[in-house]
Amino acid sequence: MSESLFTDASRRLERALKYVSLSEDTIERLKYPKSSLIVSIPVRMDDGSLRIFQGYRVRYDDTRGPSKGGVRYHPKVSLDEVQSLAFWMTFKCAVLNIPFGGAKGGITVNPKELSKLELERLSRGYVDAIADFIGPDVDIPAPDVYTNPMIMGWMMDQYNIIKRQLSPAVVTGKPVTIGGSLGRDTATATGAFFVIQNLLPKFNRTPWETTVAVQGFGNAGAELAELLWKAGYKVVAVSDSQGGIHAKQGLDIPSIRRFKEANKGIKAIYCEGSVCNIVEHEILTNEQLLALDVDVLVPAALENQITAQNVNDVKAKFIFEVANGPIDSAADLILEARGIQVFPDILVNAGGVTVSYFEWVQNRSGLYWTLEEVNQRLQHKMVEETEAIWTKSQELSVCMRTAAYVYGLQRLGEAMNAKGTRDYYLNG
Ligand code: GLU
Repeated sequence: MSESLFTDASRRLERALKYVSLSEDTIERLKYPKSSLIVSIPVRMDDGSLRIFQGYRVRYDDTRGPSKGGVRYHPKVSLDEVQSLAFWMTFKCAVLNIPFGGAKGGITVNPKELSKLELERLSRGYVDAIADFIGPDVDIPAPDVYTNPMIMGWMMDQYNIIKRQLSPAVVTGKPVTIGGSLGRDTATATGAFFVIQNLLPKFNRTPWETTVAVQGFGNAGAELAELLWKAGYKVVAVSDSQGGIHAKQGLDIPSIRRFKEANKGIKAIYCEGSVCNIVEHEILTNEQLLALDVDVLVPAALENQITAQNVNDVKAKFIFEVANGPIDSAADLILEARGIQVFPDILVNAGGVTVSYFEWVQNRSGLYWTLEEVNQRLQHKMVEETEAIWTKSQELSVCMRTAAYVYGLQRLGEAMNAKGTRDYYLNG
């Protein structure tokens, strides 16, 4: 793809601007990231050699609060990608009315090739490089693709060592024993589940007559597949980065998760107690999974999975974006013209950052909540904002993505006005 991801991401903003009246200052400011940091991270490898890794941290906007967003470890991480992800975080936090701005970080690395100790040195080295750039009131990292609670724990610890004080709220998604929130590990999937459960009935859909395919079997995809399976949806296909499986009669998701855990791959199996049988299934590529004739498609892997090249192969009626940016702007228009309902990333996957916010609140108050409390608050927030965006999309007769951007833009615009824009002074 020749065009940058960020240029494409900005198109969503341009589309939404037609439906909202904003001061020119706001529009101008939202076109550019607040600051972008590129760092070189020297890491002593286990064999004694030194490797330098490239890392990034982009703070897109902090008008509504400290900037917030995950850190991604992936061989394809680039400044363009991190900047786009930081842009999406800005809107995600505004849409969920979380008092944060947007940021994102990343390291260009294949973490699967590193030992645990190398990974720890890399994570601590990353914090050494960005320590002056982050903080509980400045910018708060969290997990993203291929980062996890263990890595967040190292990052928090390294920050505390540098600052010589305990600041658990500098990072979210930490292990629960050192200040993580209950329910943060499953929050992205749980939030997406609440959104799906809220929206599908509007189309007279019941779980038992709804087939689902999930692309991506990581933290979010696998957990969501299981929640849907438990609620009675027929999950007929799942895939990970190696490829996927499809079984018309539906898959037994808990068995597949156990198999993946033990074997680092996926196979369609049914386990009863300790007895597991491999059931009839078809092996698929990730591309083929996207083209399956299912009711609901859930891209839960990486960006740019559905583009102008393959959009016409998509047969699903509903797409819930659990990954960030899985559909490009050209494909968006085609899906809309074909009547396929797309529910956008900045709403659907916002459960993760919502519980990150809850974690930050708990760290700062010193009072920790039960899992039920976390999930109840999460449900309340997801349902409230889903309903508001749904209403906006009906009022304006626009797709849910544009409605979500309009909605987020209004909150960002109000916050920017309150700090002072030309219009604010002229009209105020
Ligand atoms: N990486 C997640 C996202 O893209 C979570 C960010 C956070 O918790 O700050 O939304």
